[in-house]
Amino acid sequence: MLASTWRGLVTRHRLPLESTMSAESKSAESSGRRPACTAESPGTAAVAIAARSKVLRFTLITLRGYGSVCLSEDTLRVQLVFAGCAACTGYGSCMSFASVPFSGFGWDRGGMDRRDQAWLESALSDSATRVVVVDRSSVLVEGHELAPLTVGDLPADDAVVAWPDAVWLGRVDGETWVAVPASAGVEAALRDGVAWADVRQVAAGMSAQDAALAATSVAITAWNAANVFCARCGQWMRPIDAGWVRVCNEGHEEFLRLDPAVIVRITDEADRVLVGHNAAWEPGRYSIFAGFVEPGESFEGAVRREMREEVGLDLTDITYMGSQPWPFPRSLMVGFTAKAASTAVVTQPDEIDEARWLSRDELRAAVADGSVRLPGPSSISYALLADWFGGALPVREAVGRA
Ligand SMILES: [Zn+2]
Repeated sequence: MLASTWRGLVTRHRLPLESTMSAESKSAESSGRRPACTAESPGTAAVAIAARSKVLRFTLITLRGYGSVCLSEDTLRVQLVFAGCAACTGYGSCMSFASVPFSGFGWDRGGMDRRDQAWLESALSDSATRVVVVDRSSVLVEGHELAPLTVGDLPADDAVVAWPDAVWLGRVDGETWVAVPASAGVEAALRDGVAWADVRQVAAGMSAQDAALAATSVAITAWNAANVFCARCGQWMRPIDAGWVRVCNEGHEEFLRLDPAVIVRITDEADRVLVGHNAAWEPGRYSIFAGFVEPGESFEGAVRREMREEVGLDLTDITYMGSQPWPFPRSLMVGFTAKAASTAVVTQPDEIDEARWLSRDELRAAVADGSVRLPGPSSISYALLADWFGGALPVREAVGRA
């Protein structure tokens, strides 16, 4: 049904997929190479539809599994990013922040149901319930995906996982999911092919569903582990609402907290991008600039303040681009672009010890000669840079992706 819906949409607007692909792209696909994701975007078809937002949302849903969708409701344009384009991990002009790891998958979190403990108890007594086993920022994987464990695969006691600390995640396609911290005996119970993987290292290769479930599982289990005692009276707190709230004997409730941070891609009048090296990083590592939002501050206010502090720049055209949960342990990255009013950078040396304006050619050359290594593809910083670069970021051939 999904495929027919997709074909119907394309046919209706007379944009058959084949006609939107350049000869170069077809050749690249047939040879096994990944097609370049450029401003001309051979794997992308832009479909203008005059429709109300509910139809756009329907389009998003029906295309899931076939590619990412770039949605701009102000112009009622939908960009369909086909498999060849998404597979190159280049975002480019067809970039969708829905395809940034952790950001592009929503599910029924059962926010009302989880208030009733019976829902969690029922889930844990159902052998088919899916389980994400967590150890700090790592999850169990098999290949590139979450290890497909169920309650039935795991012993009922706490030898392998800490069942009393299980958290209800919700329902995905009719299946119930829970997150559970690992117990000391988990290593001996793993079957062949199942291994630990840090979510930050593997998210870019995971499906959007698995990356989002993994990130949420890491975040909620870390929060429960870090909030054992009440901040107001010091008493032990127990989990309620299926692990999403904690309460002490005095009835003081603690809700999950997030740390919002802004991240900004700054360009100048010549469309060069500003990248910086943090004083705490290893040599050669560069990225765009970020900072935590302070109390009483808007996102835009944080962008202006942080960039004045870190690189001494005043900004114009501050534009929201998208956001990314970054649950290590509990950040929410809010991505912006901005223009610099001048190019006179003054860094704050104890934080940013070098900043460089780079054109696309200069960036490509700096990566090639090894003087610049860029963020990995799991991060929103990669997505913001790739959006400016016009495709997948360059990689130093002899070294591999940074
Ligand atoms: Zn208390």
